[in-house]
Amino acid sequence: MNKSAETGNVLIDRFGRRVDYVRLSVTDRCDFRCVYCMSENMQFLPHAQVLTLEEIFQIAQAFTELGVKRIRLTGGEPLVRKNVMALMRMLGTLDVELCLTTNGSQLSRMAEDLAAAGVDRLNISLDSLNPERFHELTRTGKLAQVLEGISAAKQAGFKRIKLNAVILKNRNDDEILGLLDFARTEGLDISYIEEMPLGVISEHDRAEAYCSSDEVKALIEQRYPLQALEARTGGPSKYYGMSDSESRVGFISPHSHNFCGDCNRVRVTVEGRLLLCLGNEHSMDLRDVIRSHPGDQEALKAAIIQAMDLKPEKHHFNLDEAPQIIRFMNMTGG
Ligand code: SAM
Ligand code: SF4
Repeated sequence: MNKSAETGNVLIDRFGRRVDYVRLSVTDRCDFRCVYCMSENMQFLPHAQVLTLEEIFQIAQAFTELGVKRIRLTGGEPLVRKNVMALMRMLGTLDVELCLTTNGSQLSRMAEDLAAAGVDRLNISLDSLNPERFHELTRTGKLAQVLEGISAAKQAGFKRIKLNAVILKNRNDDEILGLLDFARTEGLDISYIEEMPLGVISEHDRAEAYCSSDEVKALIEQRYPLQALEARTGGPSKYYGMSDSESRVGFISPHSHNFCGDCNRVRVTVEGRLLLCLGNEHSMDLRDVIRSHPGDQEALKAAIIQAMDLKPEKHHFNLDEAPQIIRFMNMTGG
């Protein structure tokens, strides 16, 4: 019997790390084509390969029965999946903190229903406050639509809303303070993200565009001194407070800070592949388990427990080498 099974109702890997956070990808599709996330002409998965909403719920339920306390829905853009609200309402019945990462494009019409369905926390991606640049970075996005979405989300009454900004050198690094001031004025948190080498892109050179969290933080501290907050997320984020604002500032630093030692999370792609690490390919095919044992929740849980033994100790990202991970972020479930 493996270690996780011995501990009963919780998931623990070979290195003693407790897994209590799952990120579920709801779709690989998206209405944007962000330059760091996708290539311009993406091939999306055929529907038969994609988990049904019921299968996604079955997986979420299995994880909660194994002690998972937080579920984040992501993608692709989760809110472009047909009938996604039905899934949200089902997930809202589970005893977990329910979080959603979105590009914000659909929020003006969906924010209220999402909050009513039980979504607790929202992450909204926003890399620029300049409409032309926003369009360049997302290739198809309209800033005004996302800003409307942010205001609808504020009205809807989520527990917390956080902005996510991927910072690229010479593309939007001159907006680090502008984005922070926007977050402060709107009463939102903000995280700055280092770009990760997931998938082969031709639009820019990832090594040249690399902007470290330390550089971003140093720039912010020239205006707002930051106080480290204790709260650890078990992920690549570190959070700071400012003495004159409720907004929190986070840095997601997959390159410059090693966070693998207390990693608490796994991901499930929309094909039902349970990925044990963002930066490695170790995985377990949960779709196969579900489709070959219909309705058998125990078989699904046994597979998840067994997969814990595949979780690698750490990831390695190296911008000077060809990407080792060829799946794009929209496939991974960012
Ligand atoms: N479509 C939603 C969105 O944009 O928020 C959810 C999925 S998206 C893949 C989740 C997050 O991953 C976004 O904040 C996005 O900026 C970030 N992201 C995408 N590709 C990335 C990359 N190569 N490196 C770092 N962050 C990335
Ligand atoms: Fe779509 Fe989000 Fe990827 Fe942008 S980062 S292309 S919004 S999935």
